[in-house]
Amino acid sequence: MDQRRAVFLDLNGTLVTPILVEQLTDLRLIDGVQEGVGRLCRAGFVCPVVTVQSKIEKGLFSEAEFHTWFEALARSMVTWGTVLTGPYVCPHRFATPCMCAKPQTLLYERAAADHGLSLSGSFAVGDTAADVEAAKRFGGRGCLVLTGYSARGEEASRAKRFASYTGRTFGEVVDWILKQEAA
Ligand SMILES: [Mg+2]
Ligand SMILES: [Zn+2]
Repeated sequence: MDQRRAVFLDLNGTLVTPILVEQLTDLRLIDGVQEGVGRLCRAGFVCPVVTVQSKIEKGLFSEAEFHTWFEALARSMVTWGTVLTGPYVCPHRFATPCMCAKPQTLLYERAAADHGLSLSGSFAVGDTAADVEAAKRFGGRGCLVLTGYSARGEEASRAKRFASYTGRTFGEVVDWILKQEAA
Protein backbone atom coordinates (compact mmCIF):
# COMPACT_ATOMS: atom_id res chain seq x y z
CA MET A 1 0.00 0.00 0.00
CA ASP A 2 1.34 3.41 -0.96
CA GLN A 3 1.67 5.73 1.98
CA ARG A 4 1.05 9.40 1.44
CA ARG A 5 3.78 11.88 2.15
CA ALA A 6 3.65 15.10 4.08
CA VAL A 7 5.10 18.55 4.11
CA PHE A 8 4.80 19.39 7.82
CA LEU A 9 4.37 23.12 8.28
CA ASP A 10 5.45 25.23 11.20
CA LEU A 11 2.98 28.05 11.94
CA ASN A 12 4.52 31.14 13.60
CA GLY A 13 7.23 32.75 11.47
CA THR A 14 6.63 30.28 8.62
CA LEU A 15 2.95 30.67 7.66
CA VAL A 16 2.00 33.70 9.77
CA THR A 17 3.67 36.79 11.18
CA PRO A 18 4.68 38.69 13.36
CA ILE A 19 6.47 36.28 15.72
CA LEU A 20 5.81 38.17 18.94
CA VAL A 21 2.11 38.91 19.42
CA GLU A 22 -0.22 39.01 22.39
CA GLN A 23 -3.35 38.24 20.40
CA LEU A 24 -4.09 35.63 17.77
CA THR A 25 -6.08 38.21 15.79
CA ASP A 26 -2.85 40.17 15.13
CA LEU A 27 -1.42 37.31 13.04
CA ARG A 28 -1.41 37.60 9.26
CA LEU A 29 -0.49 35.14 6.49
CA ILE A 30 2.98 35.78 5.06
CA ASP A 31 3.03 36.78 1.36
CA GLY A 32 3.21 33.78 -0.95
CA VAL A 33 2.18 31.22 1.69
CA GLN A 34 -1.36 30.74 0.45
CA GLU A 35 -0.17 29.99 -3.07
CA GLY A 36 2.74 27.84 -1.87
CA VAL A 37 0.59 25.59 0.33
CA GLY A 38 -1.81 25.23 -2.60
CA ARG A 39 0.99 24.01 -4.87
CA LEU A 40 2.04 21.41 -2.27
CA CYS A 41 -1.52 20.14 -1.85
CA ARG A 42 -2.12 19.91 -5.59
CA ALA A 43 1.14 17.91 -5.88
CA GLY A 44 -0.43 15.35 -3.51
CA PHE A 45 1.23 16.24 -0.21
CA VAL A 46 -0.67 16.22 3.07
CA CYS A 47 0.15 19.47 4.91
CA PRO A 48 -0.15 19.02 8.70
CA VAL A 49 0.58 22.08 10.81
CA VAL A 50 2.84 21.25 13.79
CA THR A 51 3.18 24.10 16.24
CA VAL A 52 4.38 25.07 19.72
CA GLN A 53 1.94 27.50 21.35
CA SER A 54 3.53 28.32 24.72
CA LYS A 55 1.02 31.12 25.24
CA ILE A 56 -1.60 28.46 25.99
CA GLU A 57 0.26 27.33 29.12
CA LYS A 58 1.09 30.97 29.90
CA GLY A 59 -2.65 31.67 29.87
CA LEU A 60 -2.71 34.33 27.11
CA PHE A 61 -5.26 32.28 25.21
CA SER A 62 -6.85 28.87 25.65
CA GLU A 63 -6.36 25.77 23.55
CA ALA A 64 -10.00 26.09 22.43
CA GLU A 65 -9.42 29.71 21.34
CA PHE A 66 -6.36 28.64 19.41
CA HIS A 67 -8.32 25.89 17.62
CA THR A 68 -11.11 28.32 16.72
CA TRP A 69 -8.58 30.79 15.31
CA PHE A 70 -6.81 28.00 13.37
CA GLU A 71 -10.04 26.73 11.84
CA ALA A 72 -10.82 30.24 10.58
CA LEU A 73 -7.33 30.51 9.08
CA ALA A 74 -7.64 27.10 7.42
CA ARG A 75 -11.10 28.00 6.06
CA SER A 76 -9.75 31.26 4.63
CA MET A 77 -7.11 29.28 2.72
CA VAL A 78 -9.46 26.78 1.09
CA THR A 79 -9.07 27.84 -2.51
CA TRP A 80 -7.65 25.77 -5.35
CA GLY A 81 -7.65 22.60 -3.24
CA THR A 82 -5.56 24.04 -0.40
CA VAL A 83 -6.10 22.03 2.79
CA LEU A 84 -4.26 22.54 6.08
CA THR A 85 -4.33 19.40 8.26
CA GLY A 86 -4.27 19.46 12.07
CA PRO A 87 -3.19 21.45 14.00
CA TYR A 88 -0.85 19.31 16.10
CA VAL A 89 -0.10 21.49 19.10
CA CYS A 90 2.41 21.53 21.95
CA PRO A 91 0.77 23.90 24.47
CA HIS A 92 3.74 23.98 26.88
CA ARG A 93 6.22 26.67 27.87
CA PHE A 94 9.75 26.18 26.62
CA ALA A 95 10.94 25.58 30.22
CA THR A 96 8.34 22.85 30.85
CA PRO A 97 9.72 19.38 30.17
CA CYS A 98 7.24 17.67 27.82
CA MET A 99 7.13 14.95 25.22
CA CYS A 100 5.63 17.03 22.42
CA ALA A 101 7.86 20.09 21.90
CA LYS A 102 10.03 20.21 18.77
CA PRO A 103 12.58 18.87 17.98
CA GLN A 104 10.95 15.79 19.53
CA THR A 105 9.00 13.83 16.97
CA LEU A 106 5.85 12.86 18.90
CA LEU A 107 3.47 15.26 17.09
CA TYR A 108 4.85 14.27 13.67
CA GLU A 109 4.39 10.59 14.56
CA ARG A 110 0.84 11.29 15.70
CA ALA A 111 0.04 13.02 12.40
CA ALA A 112 1.62 10.15 10.48
CA ALA A 113 -0.52 7.62 12.36
CA ASP A 114 -3.70 9.70 11.86
CA HIS A 115 -3.19 10.10 8.10
CA GLY A 116 -1.15 7.05 7.05
CA LEU A 117 1.96 9.05 6.19
CA SER A 118 5.47 7.88 5.39
CA LEU A 119 7.78 9.98 7.59
CA SER A 120 10.95 9.08 5.69
CA GLY A 121 9.42 10.42 2.49
CA SER A 122 8.22 13.62 4.15
CA PHE A 123 9.51 17.16 4.57
CA ALA A 124 9.18 19.77 7.31
CA VAL A 125 9.30 23.53 6.71
CA GLY A 126 10.08 25.96 9.51
CA ASP A 127 11.92 29.08 10.63
CA THR A 128 13.84 27.62 13.61
CA ALA A 129 16.51 25.02 14.32
CA ALA A 130 13.93 22.92 16.21
CA ASP A 131 11.79 22.57 13.05
CA VAL A 132 14.58 21.28 10.83
CA GLU A 133 16.16 19.16 13.59
CA ALA A 134 12.78 17.45 14.08
CA ALA A 135 12.72 16.54 10.38
CA LYS A 136 16.20 15.06 10.64
CA ARG A 137 15.12 13.05 13.73
CA PHE A 138 12.03 11.57 12.04
CA GLY A 139 14.11 10.59 9.04
CA GLY A 140 12.77 13.16 6.60
CA ARG A 141 14.12 16.36 5.12
CA GLY A 142 14.00 19.73 6.86
CA CYS A 143 13.69 23.00 4.95
CA LEU A 144 14.60 26.26 6.62
CA VAL A 145 12.83 29.42 5.52
CA LEU A 146 14.53 32.72 6.30
CA THR A 147 11.43 34.42 7.67
CA GLY A 148 10.29 34.72 11.31
CA TYR A 149 13.09 33.82 13.75
CA SER A 150 15.52 33.02 10.94
CA ALA A 151 15.20 36.53 9.55
CA ARG A 152 17.84 37.05 12.28
CA GLY A 153 21.25 35.57 11.55
CA GLU A 154 21.92 33.58 14.75
CA GLU A 155 18.87 31.33 14.51
CA ALA A 156 19.56 30.69 10.83
CA SER A 157 23.16 29.66 11.48
CA ARG A 158 22.06 27.34 14.33
CA ALA A 159 19.46 25.80 12.04
CA LYS A 160 21.47 25.38 8.85
CA ARG A 161 23.37 22.26 9.95
CA PHE A 162 20.06 20.37 10.20
CA ALA A 163 18.55 21.73 7.01
CA SER A 164 18.50 19.90 3.69
CA TYR A 165 17.62 23.19 2.03
CA THR A 166 17.43 26.85 2.99
CA GLY A 167 15.14 29.21 1.09
CA ARG A 168 14.62 32.96 1.39
CA THR A 169 10.86 32.63 1.04
CA PHE A 170 8.18 29.97 1.50
CA GLY A 171 7.76 29.95 -2.29
CA GLU A 172 11.45 29.11 -2.81
CA VAL A 173 11.14 26.18 -0.40
CA VAL A 174 8.09 24.90 -2.29
CA ASP A 175 10.02 25.19 -5.58
CA TRP A 176 12.83 23.06 -4.09
CA ILE A 177 10.49 20.39 -2.69
CA LEU A 178 8.67 20.05 -6.01
CA LYS A 179 12.00 19.83 -7.83
CA GLN A 180 13.03 16.88 -5.59
CA GLU A 181 9.80 15.24 -6.67
CA ALA A 182 10.54 15.72 -10.34
CA ALA A 183 14.12 14.40 -10.00
MG1 LIG B 1 8.24 29.14 13.88
ZN1 LIG C 1 4.68 20.04 24.81
